[in-house]
Amino acid sequence: MARSGRPPASPHGAGTNLLELDLKSAERLVRDLGWPRYRAPQIFRWLYQSRVRDIERMTDLSQAERARLRTMATIERLHDCHVLTSADGTRKFLARLEDGLMVESVLIPEDGRLTLCLSTQVGCTLDCGFCLTGRMGLKRNLKAHEIVDQVLTVQDRLETGERLTNLVLMGMGEPLANLDGVTEAIARLTDTQWGVGIPARRITLSTAGLAPRLKDVATLGINLAVSLNATTNEQRDRLMPAINRLHPLNSLLAACRAFPLPPRRRLTFEYVLLAGINDTEQDARRLAKLLSGMRCKVNLIPFNEFPDSGFRRPEESAVLRFQSVLRKAGLHAFIRKSKGRDVLGACGQLGQVPERREAAILTPVGA
Ligand code: SAH
Repeated sequence: MARSGRPPASPHGAGTNLLELDLKSAERLVRDLGWPRYRAPQIFRWLYQSRVRDIERMTDLSQAERARLRTMATIERLHDCHVLTSADGTRKFLARLEDGLMVESVLIPEDGRLTLCLSTQVGCTLDCGFCLTGRMGLKRNLKAHEIVDQVLTVQDRLETGERLTNLVLMGMGEPLANLDGVTEAIARLTDTQWGVGIPARRITLSTAGLAPRLKDVATLGINLAVSLNATTNEQRDRLMPAINRLHPLNSLLAACRAFPLPPRRRLTFEYVLLAGINDTEQDARRLAKLLSGMRCKVNLIPFNEFPDSGFRRPEESAVLRFQSVLRKAGLHAFIRKSKGRDVLGACGQLGQVPERREAAILTPVGA
């Protein structure tokens, strides 16, 4: 209960967005209100488990308490969510951030799983030549609540019977270039007491190879995927110049070998196949050698084309040949089906909504 009728002097201000608070700051806020500490996780359950957008809906607070909280705080969610639905069932969600920038997430139904691919930045720090997002440059890092809100926004729009089973941090941006935002987001997404409650083992972070930060992924308890995409430094310098200059292949692979893998888990290596560039049998043999002895699997991603990329998607026969060389060498190698290409929702295609198409198939679904 409040100690006085007047709202206490507080650093939070009237407009504090509750979604911006980590647990410690929420505990400070409830303390300033003169409430017991358990109110903080109680409020978080409303935000992350019931997904309310209005303090008025927090019905285990008294009328007076809700009114009091409303003098200090609000709930500001992502705005203007639009959904693009692909012929293959993949759905691309576009939502507006507070400063007007757009965030993109992709929902992929496959083999009984429902995977949501999250963005961690608007644009990207890196300059990988085969990725459309790289062309935007970095607009900014997403804040923790903007990463979490992608999940809440999609959960609000799932159809009856649908449930998210997996999360991948593989959308726009380099997650390890936004480690603070990602770390706090994972805390809120995995907590079962007051958070969204998705198990860490069902979450995978994909990095272009910020070698010194791989160990931080281990600390989070989530799975690691590394976008290798090349088998020599020369090739990787050409395809992924910024990251490979910082952390060349040998130091990246050394960090991967040092990754403290929990029992029964594997590292994932992603390898974008570019026709005539990195898709020969020789490349496959080199890849097998680089990864020999590692507890890992390889996801082959045939290049998803976009205008003026300068790259081509290989023929299916070349993709199968590449896979078979890896398999003969004893590696677990899979070909990732490209989903959502017609809505520019596939790997490497985030960052641009084709305008004419937008008018035709964007379905506004309201807030
Ligand atoms: N920055 C992180 C996550 C975003 S990219 C990373 O690099 O891992 C997610 C995956 O898409 C990466 O494996 C990347 O290599 C791949 N990718 C990027 N552009 C692509 C394209 N045009 N076609 C197919 N895969 C692409």
